[in-house]
Amino acid sequence: MTPPPNSISSRNVAVIGAGAAGLVAARELRREGHTVTAFERQKQVGGLWVYTPNVEPDSLNIDPDRTIVHSSIYQSLRTNLPRECMGYSDFPFVTQPDDETRDPRRYPDQREVMRYLQDFAKEFDINEMIRFETEVLRVEPAAENSREWRVQFRSSNGVSGEDIFDAVVVCNGHFTEPRLAHIPVLLSWPGKQIHSHNYRVPDPFKDQVVIVIGNQSSGSDISRDIATLAKEVHIAAKSDAYEKESSIYSNLHIHPTIDRVYADGSVVFQDGKVVFADAIVHCTGYKYCFPFLETNGYVTVEDNRVGPLYKHVFPPALAPGLSFIGLPSMALQFFMFEIQSKWVASVLSGRVKLPSEDKMMEDIIAFYAKLKSLGIPKRFTHFLTNPQWTPMFEKLKPHEAVLISQTEYFNWIAEQCGSPSIERWREEQYNIAIKKDDETFRDEWDDDDLIEEAYRDFAKIKPTKVCCST
Ligand code: FAD
Repeated sequence: MTPPPNSISSRNVAVIGAGAAGLVAARELRREGHTVTAFERQKQVGGLWVYTPNVEPDSLNIDPDRTIVHSSIYQSLRTNLPRECMGYSDFPFVTQPDDETRDPRRYPDQREVMRYLQDFAKEFDINEMIRFETEVLRVEPAAENSREWRVQFRSSNGVSGEDIFDAVVVCNGHFTEPRLAHIPVLLSWPGKQIHSHNYRVPDPFKDQVVIVIGNQSSGSDISRDIATLAKEVHIAAKSDAYEKESSIYSNLHIHPTIDRVYADGSVVFQDGKVVFADAIVHCTGYKYCFPFLETNGYVTVEDNRVGPLYKHVFPPALAPGLSFIGLPSMALQFFMFEIQSKWVASVLSGRVKLPSEDKMMEDIIAFYAKLKSLGIPKRFTHFLTNPQWTPMFEKLKPHEAVLISQTEYFNWIAEQCGSPSIERWREEQYNIAIKKDDETFRDEWDDDDLIEEAYRDFAKIKPTKVCCST
């Protein structure tokens, strides 16, 4: 599989986005010897973690022409994973005891994640590859049957332009385009409604009765945040979640999903209970969206499936010139961005080969068929986790669970590009964190042995500020 070194080539590569995925993609591409230009529409690195009090004027984000605010981070947010397992493999997310402005907690706040990403960019001189305040407007093949890509962009001072690249790596994030629940007449409900994308602080909900739809990470955290000031918070949750939930907040109530809402402000849950509410907060997730991508209909997003993609990364007919980093949700994000980026970089250089287009398509079709036969909905195509630890998948048999196992996925990619497999402690920490279902997990834990194991590994990391041939 590995071609001789003299066939390894350097490519001119565009990276779209300088969030956690784009930063590590740029680094890995340069390490492999490619020339990299990253386009970032914000003024700084960090993507989602660039907190802003600003929100979009259309609080449910329905207007397609609205001004986009990228971040979905709320002020009180603390990470949902312990910092040791959250960082990149060779730049650990460790505490900075000499700097008292840093958050030393194991599950730090959003500012600390932002500082970590800024440190990472600085350590590896990534900023010099980034064109800030430059939005990519269109990405398309440079000509019919061309292997090159045209990238059209516009900077904040209004200057437009285009460049031609050998390859484009899409790292634009997928937590900005909200998804809403399908509830009859919801939009004519008279109260205030916002999507969690526009949630920042609980103050607007002081003394109000609030319904929170959704009980995943954001729904759980936001409902507790609002409960600190609201009169009552009612969570509408899928049954498996609401049966388990318990809370230290006496004003926080759990219900099954909403059946219907009425013009008098009432909200009726599936069990018939009625609540008159002032506001609804939709913590109902996000949609994949690539408004700049023009592939003549080859790459599509249908029911939140981005396809066809080989191993969530390469569209077979356009590979390796077009690739996507970071699509799988749930999985350990930064580690996944890093390993996918290594794979893309090594395929682009020719050091690692992809199967033929036909073989990749066969793999994708078989994957979709297996998801279907297991009853996993299309919208969960990019769902990667450790199924035995995730209630909705725990009934899968081991040979079925492989399909959506992040361990299998990471180790498969690692093998492709000759990288180490995921560390045992990282995997275990993740498994423990995704089982969390109480308010205390960020401040109480009993896996100190895993922390020690992580720090033993961190101590072995050599300085790796390697910039190669650009
Ligand atoms: P983003 O961070 O969204 O970055 C994408 C970048 O692309 C942005 O900077 C954007 O400006 C830029 N961009 C987009 N379109 C264009 C364009 N057309 N032209 C130029 N630039 C463009 N993960 C964890 O590991 N731990 C956590 O605790 C955690 N908490 C989370 C909490 C919330 C509320 C959410 C929504 C997600 C959380 N995540 C967490 C997951 C998080 O998405 C990832 O950690 C990660 O930050 C995503 O990085 P990204 O680079 O893929 O996307």
